[in-house]
Amino acid sequence: MYDSVSGFDFIKNGGYKNAIAIIVDGIAMDLSATFPVTASVEIIAKDHPEAMNIMRHTTSHIMAHAIKELYPNVKIAIGPTIENGFYYDVLCDHQIKPDDFGTIEDKMREIICANYKITREILPTPVAIEMFMAQDEMFKVELIRELNVPEVTIYKHEDRFMDLCRGPHLPRTGVASKHFRLMKVAGAYWRGDSQREMLQRIYATSWFSRENLDQYIVNLEEAEKRDHRKIGKDMDLFHIQEEAAGSIFWHPNGYVIYRTLRNFLRKFIQRDGYVEVGTPQMIDRSLWEASGHWDKFRQNMFVAESVDDKVLAIKPMNCPGHIQIFNQSVKSYRDLPLRMAEFGICHRNEPSGALYGTMRVRAFTQDDGHIFCTPDQINTETKRFCNLLTSVYNKLGFEEFTVKFSDRPPVRAGTDAVWDKSESLLKQATTEAGLEFTVNSGEGAFYGPKLEFVLRDKLGRDWQCGTLQVDFVLPERLDAWYMGDDGEKHHPILLHRAVLGSMERFIGILLENYAGKLPLWLSPVQVVVADITNDFDRYAGVFHDKLLDNDIRAKLDTRAEKISYKIRNHVMSKVPLIAIIGAEEVRDNTITLRRLDGTQEIFGINDAVIAIKEMCRAPMP
Ligand SMILES: [Zn+2]
Ligand SMILES: [Zn+2]
Repeated sequence: MYDSVSGFDFIKNGGYKNAIAIIVDGIAMDLSATFPVTASVEIIAKDHPEAMNIMRHTTSHIMAHAIKELYPNVKIAIGPTIENGFYYDVLCDHQIKPDDFGTIEDKMREIICANYKITREILPTPVAIEMFMAQDEMFKVELIRELNVPEVTIYKHEDRFMDLCRGPHLPRTGVASKHFRLMKVAGAYWRGDSQREMLQRIYATSWFSRENLDQYIVNLEEAEKRDHRKIGKDMDLFHIQEEAAGSIFWHPNGYVIYRTLRNFLRKFIQRDGYVEVGTPQMIDRSLWEASGHWDKFRQNMFVAESVDDKVLAIKPMNCPGHIQIFNQSVKSYRDLPLRMAEFGICHRNEPSGALYGTMRVRAFTQDDGHIFCTPDQINTETKRFCNLLTSVYNKLGFEEFTVKFSDRPPVRAGTDAVWDKSESLLKQATTEAGLEFTVNSGEGAFYGPKLEFVLRDKLGRDWQCGTLQVDFVLPERLDAWYMGDDGEKHHPILLHRAVLGSMERFIGILLENYAGKLPLWLSPVQVVVADITNDFDRYAGVFHDKLLDNDIRAKLDTRAEKISYKIRNHVMSKVPLIAIIGAEEVRDNTITLRRLDGTQEIFGINDAVIAIKEMCRAPMP
């Protein structure tokens, strides 16, 4: 008679062939775990959402094991899973280079083939410290001391390798997938502390199948080609320099995209009943104290001082400013909903290490808006916003997007009754707008629930862009009110919303999604008029002028260069249309229009202008 059972036996009896771990009484374990027969057990097979993490984490141990066998005196630090893979930080005399990756991978395959049993042991802390001390693994000793618990779990590859770990792991090294690859090595300080040891961080990816690994590598190479920083350079759109880290210098071409996108959006919000405003860049500390930002958001805010010793904050968001405009006159329920928009430039003090091209910046333009409404209007305003956002995304070429609904966080303002109501209103409206959503439990803002809109690009990458947040706190804090139809004063509900989120980031997403080949209406230069020899300069000039007269962004290229060179040049900068002019065109009063994909078509000169104008037309609401 047994009162406990091992994972192996349990799985064997259940016949689960693809099982790689189990959850026993809510705790994820590996198959070597022993547990009482009365425990509640869930099997983790390869298609379980946790399976990939367990497999990757085990592979990270295998990588550390391989490195320890290959290079003497290696000290291992930590090896967590990350998106698409894992890394391990090691201290090693040998400078690991990409040339070494093959050797490490071979050793890892050996360890997988050796099929070592992976065992989990719970040890009294002093015993564990002694064991790691004996191996001179001082990082592990430091971690254990810091944990400050009576016992710790370690995982062993038989007697070949051991690591401090909470688990769970695969039952044997042989179960780990061989479809892994080492990706890169970078420096990383132990514990992110520049006073401590500089370690080598080895990144790797792993997948359950060869196809998935190959697809990942292909996508990665494609993403590299599409890197918006590279495209930005090729197309001469923008640059960033050290002296203004996290802020964009928009070059003429890039600024055309910026303004075109803003004007496109303007048309949509105007049609949707928004009024556009502009609010100060710097506002006195006292207002940020009243709004609560000084307390909650201070470390992200840039602060400046005036000559008369006032402390001003550079705005990290536009909401308090919009409420000041709302408060300038007495409002009645008849004035609501009031939809206020601003292309507001905000600054946030992000650490320089987090900055990335136009995607992660310190200075960005929000396509921000705040809807002041009554509780009864939350439903229609939410639906209206969902429709606006769907239309804008579709017209920018993003058909696919998902919606996340974030409900009440553990620390929050407002009573449960208020949360119940606003959550159910927001959910209902989203459903009524025809959008499905998933729930991010506890991820809502301090002041109310929110929707996040995540769009999917051509490489299948997800970008969170739009947002709608219900706020029943800020209007009260900043004393915004309206006269209700009951003759009483009420605080309006504030809906914070953005469609694109940040203009800078969205332009980065567009560039990567389209690999720089933007839709014609967004292209900085829409047509280049290029002649074959200088004999046709006058004709080319006339046609160029006609295009300009029709608000087409055209450029004239009458350089004394071969036409093939000119074409190559403009194709490189992703100019969508090239109007070629030679002897035949001048004789026939035509132009030859070449598209970026290489196809050509001959147009009569007047028809060409009409056709090009039509092609360049921006989508309308
Ligand atoms: Zn582990
Ligand atoms: Zn806001």
